[in-house]
Amino acid sequence: MKRVVIMQPHQLAVIETPRPEPGPGQALLKPSYIGICGSDLHVLEGKHPFVSYPVYPGHEVSGVVCKLGQRVKRDLLGKQVVLEPSLFCGKCRNCKSGRYNICENLRVFGFQSPGAMGEYFAVAADRLHVLPEGFLATRGALTEPSAVAVHALRLDESVKGREIAVIGAGTIGLLTALIAKAYGAKRVQIIDLDKSRLKAAQSLGLEATTTLRPQSANIIFECVGLAATLRTAIENSRKGGTIIVLGVFGQETSIPASLIQDWELRILGSLMYTTPDYQEAIRLLGDPDFNVEPVITHKFPLADANEAFATALKRSEVLKVLLSIN
Ligand SMILES: [Zn+2]
Ligand SMILES: [Zn+2]
Repeated sequence: MKRVVIMQPHQLAVIETPRPEPGPGQALLKPSYIGICGSDLHVLEGKHPFVSYPVYPGHEVSGVVCKLGQRVKRDLLGKQVVLEPSLFCGKCRNCKSGRYNICENLRVFGFQSPGAMGEYFAVAADRLHVLPEGFLATRGALTEPSAVAVHALRLDESVKGREIAVIGAGTIGLLTALIAKAYGAKRVQIIDLDKSRLKAAQSLGLEATTTLRPQSANIIFECVGLAATLRTAIENSRKGGTIIVLGVFGQETSIPASLIQDWELRILGSLMYTTPDYQEAIRLLGDPDFNVEPVITHKFPLADANEAFATALKRSEVLKVLLSIN
């Protein structure tokens, strides 16, 4: 079977490997669509701090279960599923309290553990979520980034009736803004400097702008991961406001800490998701009135993975790139 591997920074290949067999407790997944994520691009560019090469990517995955190992419920066979890519120890303090997204020993498929970007993937059956009948496989591949947004939106107080600002109109920012709207936020504005991303946001019915006006939001979601955007969020917050940080920071960053104290700001980090967030993302994406299709801008066959990653790296004019697996 074909499989994508990132041998070392800037070196991606589609290789031939033997098809895996599902072991006890495992299912064999035949992926349908696999998304390329900003963190996959960090691996390709050599900017991901928590991986060692070679890396087998693939964590935004929809597919069909085509074979079962021992000790797996037989009714899983033939089901359309999505992969929840986190691997946690189940023993640490955070796992025991249900917050396994911040497990002390967290590993993630596609980063510290091999991912699913290939024609088949053998995986523990409990890492799969069954999709409802008729669910679009392309939407299935958006479950993972949607669960990231759901987790951030449910981290703190409800966004219902609140004024929300989202900084960064990439996939995570757009999904955060769309889901905030679905949750009944009174106002949702999304901020980006890139014209094509602002256009995409507008096509999704969002209020899109290049600047965050001071004091225009109760809750600000930082979805970029740069010093400048975190500073913008803090300096333009309302007194008593909340800033939720989803952006992944590649560097040490200085922030106006005096404002955190003087304005009684709350700055919360948000990492990945847990099963209830995943199930909520599936519920949202299963609603045909929830318009997310414009987030998917490109599709490539698995064999063209190099071109797919090169396209995703352009970033402008490009949102979610999917690989389709036959
Ligand atoms: Zn992702
Ligand atoms: Zn743990």
